[in-house]
Amino acid sequence: MDIELGTQLIDSLRVGLILLDHAGRVISWNGWMKRHSGLSLADVSSRRLDELFPEIVGTRLESSISDTLRFKLSSMLAPSLNPNVLPLYHNPGDRKLKQRMQQLIYISPLRHEHCACLIQIHDMTAAMRRERRLRAQSTQLIETSYQDALTGVGNRRRFDQDLAQRFRQAKDKQRPIAMLMIDVDSFKAYNDHFGHQGGDQCLIQVARALQEALRRDGDRVSRYGGEEFALLLAETDREAAVAIAERLRLAVEQLNIPHPAAPALGRVSVSIGISAMIPSEEQLCYILVAQADLALYSAKDAGRNRCMWYDPESGAARPLSARIADSERTGSSESHES
Ligand code: GH3
Ligand code: MG
Ligand code: MG
Repeated sequence: MDIELGTQLIDSLRVGLILLDHAGRVISWNGWMKRHSGLSLADVSSRRLDELFPEIVGTRLESSISDTLRFKLSSMLAPSLNPNVLPLYHNPGDRKLKQRMQQLIYISPLRHEHCACLIQIHDMTAAMRRERRLRAQSTQLIETSYQDALTGVGNRRRFDQDLAQRFRQAKDKQRPIAMLMIDVDSFKAYNDHFGHQGGDQCLIQVARALQEALRRDGDRVSRYGGEEFALLLAETDREAAVAIAERLRLAVEQLNIPHPAAPALGRVSVSIGISAMIPSEEQLCYILVAQADLALYSAKDAGRNRCMWYDPESGAARPLSARIADSERTGSSESHES
């Protein structure tokens, strides 16, 4: 192959090529390098890379070149670890923004009288951007798969996962965990009166009120199903859980959504069943749900728009103490574990 053709081929490659002599000085610098660095062969010829780019002193690029020149070793600098060693730019826009190209660099020894080292540089910018975008989309998709489409709170999958995980932690640390099962009262009648779209709007408002009434980061309401919501409270004993439940019940009551189909209630309300325990090794997480459920159905039987907690000693549900109901009504705060 003649030299003219060889030079043309090297210049039209979509990869940066740098040839160094035995003293590490630039012998060759192809068209790609010129386009992306803004420096021509004349600018860089016979100069060492650390003279041209003092910032590479002390980097892996410098030590790799030195290893290649001294010991004939080859190496690769991955963009994830050494993303933009050299001041190269993917396009003029990035140059203006001073956003360097993401580089994948191969350094190989050459056994030649004048040439000792070949450096190849690949532009990974577009691939890395694509990867970042895909990763963000996949995170978003995972997040959506845990979200209830109607109300935006967690869905049943979220709740089941939280339950298994938090129950396990409570068991391991021998710390209290509590659960609230929250059910909208006489919701069938509400739907029959306002239609399903009216019912949907009501569920959206209830879910928002419940979530907004929570004060601790990480506490999240999930839609258990239909018009039922569930809440897990880590590090929370019964007394604190009961106080939180009463706050949630009041938050829904205070939405003041008229419920003409349930004259005894007058407005949309929820009943809440509460369970709390320090789990023993042999207990399964479902017991927390079963106990909250039992307490919820007692709250329904007792007239709705109220909270009741499961008492493991009697195996029955009990209403709130007057003290807790009063303190929530007057707005005094509680800690999660009293
Ligand atoms: P209770 O006070 O005993 O809980 O009575 P309820 O009428 O609320 O309970 P029931 O289980 O009889 O009825 C629940 C209703 O919730 C029936 C169902 O149509 C309605 N529902 C469940 N999911 C949705 C939903 O996504 N949108 C709407 N609009 N309604 C729903
Ligand atoms: Mg229900
Ligand atoms: Mg209901």
